[in-house]
Amino acid sequence: MPIKKETALHDAQSSSGYNLHWVRILPCLLWAFFITLSYGWNVKNYQEQHAATLLQAARSFFQQIEITREWNAGHGGVYVPVTGATAPNPYLKTPRRDIQVDPALLLTKINPAYMTRQISEIAQTHNNIQFHITSLDPIRPQNLATGREKEALLLFAQGKAKEVGQVIETGDNGTFFYMAPLVTGKACLPCHQEQGYKEGDIRGGISVTLPFTPLPFSLPLAAGHLGLGCIGLGSIFYLGVKLNRAYSTIQTQAIIDALTGIPNRRSFTERFLEEVNRHKRKQDPLSLLMCDLDNFKAYNDTYGHGAGDDCLLRTAQGIRDSLQRPGDFCARYGGEEFVIILPSTTANGALHVAQTIVANVRNLSIRHEKSLPEQYVTVSIGVATTSSGQAEFHETLMQQADAALYQAKESGRNCVRVFQGTAADEPSSPPPPPEHLTDETS
Ligand code: GH3
Ligand code: MG
Ligand code: MG
Repeated sequence: MPIKKETALHDAQSSSGYNLHWVRILPCLLWAFFITLSYGWNVKNYQEQHAATLLQAARSFFQQIEITREWNAGHGGVYVPVTGATAPNPYLKTPRRDIQVDPALLLTKINPAYMTRQISEIAQTHNNIQFHITSLDPIRPQNLATGREKEALLLFAQGKAKEVGQVIETGDNGTFFYMAPLVTGKACLPCHQEQGYKEGDIRGGISVTLPFTPLPFSLPLAAGHLGLGCIGLGSIFYLGVKLNRAYSTIQTQAIIDALTGIPNRRSFTERFLEEVNRHKRKQDPLSLLMCDLDNFKAYNDTYGHGAGDDCLLRTAQGIRDSLQRPGDFCARYGGEEFVIILPSTTANGALHVAQTIVANVRNLSIRHEKSLPEQYVTVSIGVATTSSGQAEFHETLMQQADAALYQAKESGRNCVRVFQGTAADEPSSPPPPPEHLTDETS
């Protein structure tokens, strides 16, 4: 008997039950992780898109200013009336900066820098947008770069960036800071040549500061992910339950005999090993019964294979119903043979159980005209018992029960025989008393 192999199989089965648990838990965890990851990625994307939109807006403002400045510089500056808001620019060193047209109208020249400052003031009052024309070496001291502007200007000077855009978080709201360089053009030279700038030099930049409001919590995004997460978890759970059922069915099919509905040989082997180990620990008696239907070939030949199957089913149930104690175990060993394990049962007790089975099978009154002299289906049983706790006795016990069964067949069938132990078979316990040897028929 491949007992060691089947023990390994048993271990594998128990561990696969544990694995099956993880087969459901793991996909759920992975799905939840995936959904969380997707939600985080989408939120990040959503915020980044917001920042990209602001960058685009700031860039457009800058370009607009640059075009306006180019127009102004292209005209060598433009003249506007001097008013309370527009005083002559003290930093503009140019001839004819101011022109008195008549006693009521004094014009002054507005260069690109002055114009930028004035546009910035208007933009700030309209929609809180700030432009700041700035340089590391400004003509007008107020245009000196701030810390952040200085960093950006250095990056431009070193050729490390062509523009800078970043969100500056301050409490609930923040600002979006953008800056790009001002490159010296031909039209800029009249004013800036003195400072040593040549055409193409970066002589400063314009920063654009936009108000930034963080995006509100996106309900559709969260609800979508929550819904998807729930649908996924539900599907995994549903499939898990189906898988579990399929697994249980396979497990049952693996241990239950399909024809008779009682445990099969494989279950017997596992159970027998468990009982043997228990017996070794506790040293209490253990009995094994081998049953075989009498003249069953003749039954098939007479009544057909279908009737033979029905007979096997009824007989198996009759045997199972004859067992009284919860620890008693019966299985179909193969063909028309059954085995019964009786834990903590002496030879006397086993004999009693065997005789009950023989009587009960006969009392099923299944007609078998070729089985003489009874003419009903009967069973023969061999009994073996051990109380020694011998290490390798399980195979011996099987052989002993088989030998006793052979004796029962030889004695005319429909009876029980108890194996007569010898000193060699049972070294540490005496053989069953003579009264256990019975030729009694049911
Ligand atoms: P004995 O009293 O000596 O045991 O004689 P027997 O005819 O019962 O023994 P034998 O071993 O010659 O025949 C056993 C028969 O059991 C042969 C086989 O056709 C039948 N058998 C085994 N398994 C099944 C089964 O699943 N269904 C049916 N209908 N018959 C089976
Ligand atoms: Mg047989
Ligand atoms: Mg038989």
